Amino acid sequence: MTETRLRFPPSPTGYLHIGGARTALYNWLYAKKTGGKLILRIEDTDTERSTDESIQGILEGLQWLGITYDEGPYFQTDFTAEHVAAAQRLLAEGQAYKCFCTKERLDAKREAALAAKQNLGYDRTCRNLTPEQVAEKEAAGLPFIIRFKVPDREGMLGYDDKVLGRIECNYKEVDDFVILRSNGTALYLLCNVVDDIRDRISHIIRGQDHMTNTTRQVLLYEALKAPLPVFAHIPLTLDTKKSKISKRSHGEIVAVHFYRDHGFIPWAFNNFLVLLGWSPGTDQEIFSKEELIKAFTLERINKSSSIFNFRRDDPKFFTDPKAISINEQYLRSMDIAELAPMVQKELEAEGLWDEAYTGDRQDWFLRTLGLIRDRFHTLKDFTSLGRAYFADDFGIDDKPLQKNVLKYEELKSWLPTLANRYEQLESFDLAETERVPRELAEELDIKPGILINAMRTLVTGQLAGPSMFDILVLLGKEKVVQRLRRVDRLFAAASR
Ligand code: GLU
Repeated sequence: MTETRLRFPPSPTGYLHIGGARTALYNWLYAKKTGGKLILRIEDTDTERSTDESIQGILEGLQWLGITYDEGPYFQTDFTAEHVAAAQRLLAEGQAYKCFCTKERLDAKREAALAAKQNLGYDRTCRNLTPEQVAEKEAAGLPFIIRFKVPDREGMLGYDDKVLGRIECNYKEVDDFVILRSNGTALYLLCNVVDDIRDRISHIIRGQDHMTNTTRQVLLYEALKAPLPVFAHIPLTLDTKKSKISKRSHGEIVAVHFYRDHGFIPWAFNNFLVLLGWSPGTDQEIFSKEELIKAFTLERINKSSSIFNFRRDDPKFFTDPKAISINEQYLRSMDIAELAPMVQKELEAEGLWDEAYTGDRQDWFLRTLGLIRDRFHTLKDFTSLGRAYFADDFGIDDKPLQKNVLKYEELKSWLPTLANRYEQLESFDLAETERVPRELAEELDIKPGILINAMRTLVTGQLAGPSMFDILVLLGKEKVVQRLRRVDRLFAAASR
C-alpha cells in the first residue's frame, strides 16, 4: 500500500480557531493511525489578508496542542509559477479557454438572468471562440481570464466521501469556473489542487464548507491526470443557536490561545476537540493519545454539525462545560510527573516558583499537587485557589470568612490557644494535628467543626478543599501556627 499523506493547509488570515484546530487534529490522528505523514502548508496566496502574526499564531497553536507535522511548513506563495503553469497547460490542452467578457457585460447578463429567474452561471460566450477570434482580441490588447472548460457530459459528476457517502451533481450544474485572473495570478481552487498533487496528498479531511470547491476540484484532478485523493468532509461546528462560530460573534473563546491562556491541558483540549464531530461508538469519553489514534476512524466522523455549547448569558459557562469537565478529569487523573511542569509554568508566571520544587522540596511539591488537584478545573487554579500552598500572601474568600470565622468572636482566643498547643507538638503528624483541636473543642464544649472550619479558612483561604489534617501536615507546623495567629487581624480588618 502506498503511504498515506495528509495535509493541514490553513489560510493565515486570523488566529487558529477551534474549527481549524479540530481539522488539524483529525488529519494528524489519521496520519498517525495509518503510519503516514502530515504536511503543513500555509495557504498565503491572499496576500492582502495573510499576516505574519497569523502564521506565528497558527504555528504556536499547533505546537501547544502537540500537533506535529512531518513536512513543511510549505508556503503556497512559493509555488505561484507552478499554479500558473498548470493553468497554461490546461489552456494548451484545450481543457480551458480565454474569456474576454468584461465585468460590465457579465454583470448585465447576471442581472438579466436573475430577473428571468434563470441559471446565473457563465453563459459560455467565449468557450467557442475560434482561434482567429481569440488572436484578434489578444492583438487588440483586450484583458482576459482563463476559465476551466467543464466537460460537456451527460450524467453525474461525483466522488465517494468517507463521511457522507456518494456526493454527486449534474455536470450541467457546474459553471465554467475561473482558474486564472486577468492579472495572471491563479485562483485558490486551482492552487490548492496543484499543491495537493505535488505534495502527493492521499486523503483530504476538511470542513463541509469546502464541498462546493470539491466538486470543481474533482474535475481539475481529472484534467490534470492526477489520481483523486480520498475526501472526508467533516461537519461544521455551530453554537447553541445553530450559527457558525466565529471571532466576530463569539470573541476569543473560539481561539485556541484562549484555552492555553486559561490553563487547559493541551491533550485534554484535543480530547474535547475530537469529540466535536467524531464519536467512538461507545461511552468512552477520555482517550489517551494512543487510545485515540487507535480508535479514530473516518467512518465514525459525524455527518451533521456539532454544537459548541457556549452560553454567553451564563458566566459559569466561560466555555463549553464539556471542555471544562474533560480538563478536570485530566487534572485529577494524569501522572503527577506530567502535571508538575505545567504547574511550574503557572507558578513561574505568578512569581511563585521555587527552584527547590525540582530539588530538595520536589517530594513536597508533588505531594501537594496530588492533594490539591482534585477540586481544580484548570491549571490557573493552582495559583488562585491554591495560592496558599505556594505563598503566604493569599486572599481569604469572603464566604468562609463570614461563615466560619467572623461569626464566632471567641475564635480570637480559641485559635491562638490552638496555635500554642500545635507549637508544643513534638511530632506534627496526622494523628496529632487531629487530636489537638478535638481535645480543645471538648474542653470548650463546642463542636470540633467550628475549630476545623476556622482553621481551613485561615490556613487556605478557602471554604472547601482536601482533608484538613493532610493540609496541615503538608504545610508544616511553622506556617500553620503563624496563620492561625492571624485571626486577630481578620477581626480587626472586618471591624474597620
Ligand atoms: N486554506 C483553506 C482554509 O483555511 C483550506 C482548504 C482545504 O483544506 O483544502 O480554509
